[in-house]
Amino acid sequence: MTHDTIIRGGTVVDGTGAPARTADVAIDGGVITEVGRVSDRAARVIDADGLLVTPGFVDIHCHYDGQASWGERMIPSSWHGVTTVVVGNCGVGFAPVRPADHERLVELMEGVEDIPGAVLHEGLTWSWQSFPEFMDALDHRPYDVDLAVQVPHGALRLHVMGERGARREVATPDDIAAMARIARESIEAGALGFSTSRTLNHRTSKGELTPTLTAEADELVGIARAIGETGRGVLQGVSDFADVDAEFALFRRMAEESGRPLSFSLVQVRGDTWRRQLQLLAAANADGVPMTGQVAPRPVGLILGLECTLHPLLTNREYRELAALPLAERVRALADPACKARVLAADAAAREGAAGRSGRIIDAFDRMYELGDPPDYEPDPASSIAARAAREGREPLDLAYDLLLADAGRAFLYMPFLNYADGNLDAVGEMLAHPNTVLGLGDGGAHLGTICDASFPTTLLTLWVRDRDHGRLDLPLAVRRQTSATARTVGLLDRGVLAPGYRADVNLIDFDRLGAHRPEMRHDLPAGGKRLVQGATGYVATMVAGQITYEHGEARDPLPGRLVRGPQPAPATGGAR
Ligand SMILES: [Zn+2]
Repeated sequence: MTHDTIIRGGTVVDGTGAPARTADVAIDGGVITEVGRVSDRAARVIDADGLLVTPGFVDIHCHYDGQASWGERMIPSSWHGVTTVVVGNCGVGFAPVRPADHERLVELMEGVEDIPGAVLHEGLTWSWQSFPEFMDALDHRPYDVDLAVQVPHGALRLHVMGERGARREVATPDDIAAMARIARESIEAGALGFSTSRTLNHRTSKGELTPTLTAEADELVGIARAIGETGRGVLQGVSDFADVDAEFALFRRMAEESGRPLSFSLVQVRGDTWRRQLQLLAAANADGVPMTGQVAPRPVGLILGLECTLHPLLTNREYRELAALPLAERVRALADPACKARVLAADAAAREGAAGRSGRIIDAFDRMYELGDPPDYEPDPASSIAARAAREGREPLDLAYDLLLADAGRAFLYMPFLNYADGNLDAVGEMLAHPNTVLGLGDGGAHLGTICDASFPTTLLTLWVRDRDHGRLDLPLAVRRQTSATARTVGLLDRGVLAPGYRADVNLIDFDRLGAHRPEMRHDLPAGGKRLVQGATGYVATMVAGQITYEHGEARDPLPGRLVRGPQPAPATGGAR
């Protein structure tokens, strides 16, 4: 017989956790038909000798809700081997919505996810009100990856409760019934899940707390229960876990009373809270309550630079005079030694005068690093801006100033924000190795001027399998963590495994050369909006449904990705574990 495609002689890491083996992969009609020694012929034969062949990565924590409504390419995720994205996380999104509330949702997304209001106003068509209408607006649009959506609690609460919802008033039984009904209908129409936020880090662009922050158990469990009645759908949450046990108990109740799986963001802030969360996760799963921690393979990191939302000169009196200039002119002005002297003097004066300066992120030079190319995501604390400046006998801002001006003002500083309390990633290693965690938190499509973490899949394979000098992970386990494991977490059982019957979403990887580049700022969003993006080397080819979408980082024409409606069953012929 003749196949559409045969990928020949690669090192197959099939996504189940099974050991790597040399095998051919045959593909027909967008589906894998054979894995092993395939002696048939094919319309297209791809030589994969010396390459890893893995399932495409399933990134369950993205925020491309806006980007998917106006664009086709979910970059930077799709530059990092990702072939399926799940959006609508953390309680934020753009449906359901009443026309009068457009501004409110834009302010929420602008504040929580650092997506500029101008970009959203220009990009969003608002051709929907209900969540099913939002899905219809995305349906039949071609994408470079498959895309699944979740109902965001923030939008749902504003839709049902209006101003009372925004002010975080307690939901009445009628409010809860209305939210539960809409959530259930949205799941029935094909939303993959429901998401909520309980973190003080999430505020609107006006500084107001996110509407769902203090939602009570009756509201959360009430919505979850209604979703449970459909027999499908997953739950996702983010929380500060200020009281670990109480907060975990609330999430557990949502999962337990609905019978639906729940995943939440699991990070190291300070202390051992994350270890307690791992214990509670293990206990829940031992009791048959399916709960999963979404973990990151590196710090959740802030990127600071002259074009970014944050940088150390941001509030400096002398700098503010120049802040509105285009980058090139600003850099020219800042390069003048007299200008630098004025900026440093203004900083010294501000430090003497103001008590309010303590604890500001943009002054935390002991946690700030120069971001090289390729980036070092586990920087030695001895190389922090503060440590280097101390060795050179100058003010940290003096050094940071010079670093920011490098590369014509396009250089970046990096601040590990979460997962770096110990000055290393040993805690992350424990989280990654835990049986009840999967890769998550990349936040692709969000934090456009502050964070560029959609490259997590590349970091998991490079830092944790290849580069670290201790605590490395097994390659099959690392691949499993971001393929079949993530796919299962959200109910997409038709992908994430290289076996007959599964979708032919495939990566061909030159593992020795694999690496993420230094992030860069691009001005290619609606209204000329900017975003941090990050390319990679080593993804020789990425296939979605059997078609090559990217080759060596270059986009190819096919856009085989589509909206995925609802959970997908495992193939009848699948032999995956
Ligand atoms: Zn998020």
